[in-house]
Amino acid sequence: MERIYFQAGPTTLPKEVMLRAKKEWDDFENTGLNIMEHSHRGDTYESIHEEAKTRMRQLLNIPDTHDVLFLQGGASLQFAMVPMNLITAQKTAKYVLTGSWSEKAYKEAKRIGSSEIVVSGKETDYRTLPQMIYESFDNDAYLHITSNNTIYGSQWPDLNAFSHPVLVADMSSDIMSRPFSVSQYGLIYAGAQKNLGPAGVTAVIIRKDLLRESESIPSILSYHVHAENRSLYNTPPVYSIYLLNLVLQWMEEQGGVEEMERRNKKKAETLYNAIDNSSGFYQGYCTPESRSLMNVTFNLNTEEAERHFIKESEAHGFYGLKGHRSVGGIRASIYNAVSQESCEELAAFMLHFQEKYGK
Ligand SMILES: *Cc1c(COP(=O)(O)O)cnc(C)c1O
Repeated sequence: MERIYFQAGPTTLPKEVMLRAKKEWDDFENTGLNIMEHSHRGDTYESIHEEAKTRMRQLLNIPDTHDVLFLQGGASLQFAMVPMNLITAQKTAKYVLTGSWSEKAYKEAKRIGSSEIVVSGKETDYRTLPQMIYESFDNDAYLHITSNNTIYGSQWPDLNAFSHPVLVADMSSDIMSRPFSVSQYGLIYAGAQKNLGPAGVTAVIIRKDLLRESESIPSILSYHVHAENRSLYNTPPVYSIYLLNLVLQWMEEQGGVEEMERRNKKKAETLYNAIDNSSGFYQGYCTPESRSLMNVTFNLNTEEAERHFIKESEAHGFYGLKGHRSVGGIRASIYNAVSQESCEELAAFMLHFQEKYGK
């Protein structure tokens, strides 16, 4: 039986990418070495490094006003790096709380400088996105949002709807899933392991005027230092960037970010229909207008029924459906590399399970 994976992260990479990596495993372009055995200062690796950046730029239409950086430490390091680099004297960082990751980002900012919550969806247990009516103030360092809330399964429907002179977004779990205007953002960061590739590399897109030189920030934590050194300040995660480049190439070949969005909408619709047409047997966690196209979260009537669902789904070859340990329930993560076919098979299983046990 073929296994179908719906993990939240790290997650599956496109099959074509894995086969290509396998083919190049012990001999990258007739060099007799794996790419990870090459010097990061050599031409062989450097061309991949630059290619990956160029592909990011093309796929997301990143304007020349912005730099692309490849860093390490995951999105979690960005929770600290963003306030370290962007909170300047007399300024306050503003946070929109829409789930566990934004809570963590805010917590780190508070350790570093003046930070405030602007609005929070916590009163609804993050089932719905809060109303976003926010006007910027002169003393704002930035406004931080989380575009997709991986754990609760909500997602801001329109990334172009925010307006702030320094808009910062954690896009770890939905970057490259839909088009948006990068020029509206001061800084975007994303750990690779959901939509971009394997863990180990974090993509940062930063507006150049925010690349501030500072005596007080350690070099390794300074965007300015990384930008000056083209993300080669120290040894980069060579193999992760190589795979990231292959994933970006795959996206290009599939038709780019517009095509990803078309597919993602259809995939999500398949699963949300299965939920909504179940007469309440399955209940979506988030309100319909807040639902994510990347992480479909739902509940059954009891925790016991949910455990049963997980167990039976595994017996049918479906993996990774258990909700995050902090919220429970069921979560199907359907990032770019997950196919429409997999979603249809899961929807069919959901119906089958309901027919068998729903009486
Ligand atoms: C997964 C995730 C993170 C954490 O990423 P790490 O790379 O593990 O630090 C942060 N934010 C969001 C939105 C995520 O989905």
